[in-house]
Amino acid sequence: MKNIILTGDRPTGNLHLGHYVGSLKTRIEMQNNFEYDKYFIMIADTQALTDNAHDINKIRNNIIQVAIDYLSAGIDPNKVCIFIQSMVPELFELTAYFMNLVTVSRLQRNPTIKEEIKQRGFSTSLPIGFLNYPVSQAADILAFNANVVPVGEDQLPVIEVTNEIVKSFNSSYSQIFNEVKPFVPKSKVCARLPGLDGKVKMSKSAGNAIYLCDDEKTVKEKIMSAYTDPTHIKVSDPGKIEGNIVFSYLDAFANDEHFKKYLPEYKNLDELKSHYKRGGLGDVKVKLFLNNIINDLLTPIRNKRKELEQNIDSVYEILFNGSEKASKFAKENLKNVKKAMGINYKIL
Ligand code: ATP
Ligand code: MG
Repeated sequence: MKNIILTGDRPTGNLHLGHYVGSLKTRIEMQNNFEYDKYFIMIADTQALTDNAHDINKIRNNIIQVAIDYLSAGIDPNKVCIFIQSMVPELFELTAYFMNLVTVSRLQRNPTIKEEIKQRGFSTSLPIGFLNYPVSQAADILAFNANVVPVGEDQLPVIEVTNEIVKSFNSSYSQIFNEVKPFVPKSKVCARLPGLDGKVKMSKSAGNAIYLCDDEKTVKEKIMSAYTDPTHIKVSDPGKIEGNIVFSYLDAFANDEHFKKYLPEYKNLDELKSHYKRGGLGDVKVKLFLNNIINDLLTPIRNKRKELEQNIDSVYEILFNGSEKASKFAKENLKNVKKAMGINYKIL
């Protein structure tokens, strides 16, 4: 079977370091070193509207921001088809068919949806569209017959819904869909990077993120205020690593080269952690080290972003061309779906 990759992000804000280690880095590696037949990246504006229906401008403005984030981080539009979800209407037709294969209670029990509903404080004002987003996500994936989906850990229960729909569709109609395989980073911290507050995952909606487009000053301010160990008051105090966000970020981003360059008195992260646990190592020193590492990562991304910002029209062109291509491909697939369901009336 040929590999077809589909992945995406909601244009609810710029992309952050959680996106980078959770998904973007894997996407770039796949783009360059993985065998695939087709590769789609979707800017999920319709999904973003499910909890932002009254904030169209936010979604509208962030479509271009997310596209610039992709391109500046290294996504190559010659290899990857980047498209805008609402410009591919076939996805919504497929959503309508899939909605009959999933129950309301199944979606309400989904752990990710449950947590997101709670986080957004929806209680009795939960939009139908929000509850339904895993079904529409299944349509986004299956409209392209995608079998490989690089995501962060929070999306695993959502992908499960896709596979339940695959089974249900195949047994109700005919066997046209394949099981979908989520690709989650092996490293636990990368699969769910915590936010600066140390409470929930880093997320656009939670306001606890370091963005790929943050300037040096902003990154430094955010790192200096990151949650560490509240009992580590004096430098001489022994410190805790668990739950210490600065060490979580070092787990995700630091390598031995960084130590050679910025902190040669330690060989690696294990040595730094041991010293912190023993006492005698201050938070400021560790935070400044992390700041250097993050800036090394973000400087080329920032520079590329500046170039792209000079030529916004060409970025829109990439999105519009990609959306046209994606729509054509989904249209063809939808013919098969309707045939499998027996609702291709004109042909009958
Ligand atoms: P929102 O708060 O609007 O839901 P978000 O920050 O959760 O935004 P999404 O657009 O929902 O971002 O997620 C896009 C992709 O990035 C998904 O595959 C998701 O699993 C992954 N991702 C998001 N946040 C993290 C994180 N903190 N760590 C690892 N992966 C993440
Ligand atoms: Mg999210």
